[in-house]
Amino acid sequence: MTHYAGLEIGGTKLIAARGMGRSIVERVSVETTTPAETLGSAVDVLARWHREEPLSAIGVASFGPLRIDPFAPDYGHVLATPKRGWEGADMLAGLRGFGVPIALDTDVNAAALAEAQLGAGQGCDSLIYITIGTGIGGGVVVGRRPAHGLLHPELGHMMLRRVAGDDFAGACPFHGDCIEGLVSGPALHKRFGGDAAAAAAQDRRWDEVATDLAQLLANLLLALSPQRIVIGGGVGLGQQAMVRNAAAKVPAIVAGYLPGIDADAMGRLIVPPALGADAGPLGAILLAEAAAMTSKESLRRG
Ligand code: ADP
Ligand code: ZN
Repeated sequence: MTHYAGLEIGGTKLIAARGMGRSIVERVSVETTTPAETLGSAVDVLARWHREEPLSAIGVASFGPLRIDPFAPDYGHVLATPKRGWEGADMLAGLRGFGVPIALDTDVNAAALAEAQLGAGQGCDSLIYITIGTGIGGGVVVGRRPAHGLLHPELGHMMLRRVAGDDFAGACPFHGDCIEGLVSGPALHKRFGGDAAAAAAQDRRWDEVATDLAQLLANLLLALSPQRIVIGGGVGLGQQAMVRNAAAKVPAIVAGYLPGIDADAMGRLIVPPALGADAGPLGAILLAEAAAMTSKESLRRG
């Protein structure tokens, strides 16, 4: 069995996962404090695993925004972030010393990969993973690979058509009423003037929230043609009736343009995650596995 390590670096905690093949055999959780302390603890855990049995590769799935282009001079570094102390942090610090292939991607791209290969999207070549929580993050797998490019997908900051008459200014510090500014946890708190989780399911405002989320879903279908959209996060999991309502509104928005997009199809397309909290760590292990294979392949080719 090949031995891998996966790191999921989140805003509140880092999870180090030890993989024997694709099975997680040990998990260690470290509180996210400063980069030096948090990443240092992770490196210590990996060093122990590596001594016990050499690691073949390391996969890192991190919060962003992040430079994931391996040819960029700031590869592995965190870009502009409101998270104090983390802007410019080198997420691969200390990992290069292991001398094994390293793969880096966003936490949500890794989760999308894991859900596509092992979770709610098995058999799908193209899948989108969205987490609606403190912010909105989106990972995209197209043709079985996580999508990258100029940077990486930032679906949460898409700007969409507003509901006529809804004048909520939004809560995104960059854009106001981008989709994160409209339906993230803090946005709902502002929209409901308090704890949204306590609002009644029949509250008319949930329908406005669903209409906004439906805009995102419709645009994702039009832009990327995913075979499945997995929606998790505190809001995604806590407000499943709202999510179902959003899915049900999509056919009217696309107005017959996409063949087969009716209420039944939307019910199958929009699903909750199957891997729960393991999506990120498993995704990191899948990244490691891919890095190990690529490196083997290039050695073979000379
Ligand atoms: P994070 O984004 O930090 O990983 P979560 O995905 O758990 O964390 O999301 C936390 C956010 O989701 C908070 O803003 C919280 O208020 C909001 N939230 C959690 N559950 C619900 C719910 N049932 N209804 C509305 N908002 C919720
Ligand atoms: Zn925004």
